[in-house]
Amino acid sequence: MTDWTALIRDIPDFPQPGILFKDITPLLADHAAFTQVVDDLAAGLTFDKVVGIEARGFILAAPVAYQSGAGFVPIRKKGKLPAETLAASYALEYGSATIEVHADAFDAGDRVLIVDDVLATGGTAEAAVELVRRAGAHVVAASFLMELSFLSGRDRLSGLDVRALVAV
Ligand code: AMP
Repeated sequence: MTDWTALIRDIPDFPQPGILFKDITPLLADHAAFTQVVDDLAAGLTFDKVVGIEARGFILAAPVAYQSGAGFVPIRKKGKLPAETLAASYALEYGSATIEVHADAFDAGDRVLIVDDVLATGGTAEAAVELVRRAGAHVVAASFLMELSFLSGRDRLSGLDVRALVAV
């Protein structure tokens, strides 16, 4: 077992003053650590599709899907997906953001695992859950590498199986 937590580094004041950014690139560059977290993100879960949230969520969700024999579905920032989309907006500290999924991304009743790198305030994940449900699928769990507990993001995902490989 690799202690991969040491491979997530803190970058102060990025992308703006006051934010302590959790940079996962050293972890991604370490084969043993990367494969271990990919395995752990899906451990014990059964699902048909894995949703990755742009952009770092893609890096984690795609190998989870490959490894698990599941399909991969991207949730992207507004205006990036080419076919008909469903959209959900959520508040940021300053302003708002909108994410989208293809309206036909899921088969009816698909069991979906949502994957992202960091659970912070939970706004992104909450919007992702809404999109998956509106698209006719069922969210079985949301898995994150890291949870920033002091931001209480999981409170916005009540009733859902929320997993984080490490909480700080
Ligand atoms: P939130 O919607 O507040 O839960 O923010 C989650 C999204 O923002 C995820 O896609 C993360 O990749 C990113 N994010 C938020 N805070 C951080 C942080 N401190 N370090 C790295 N990524 C973050």
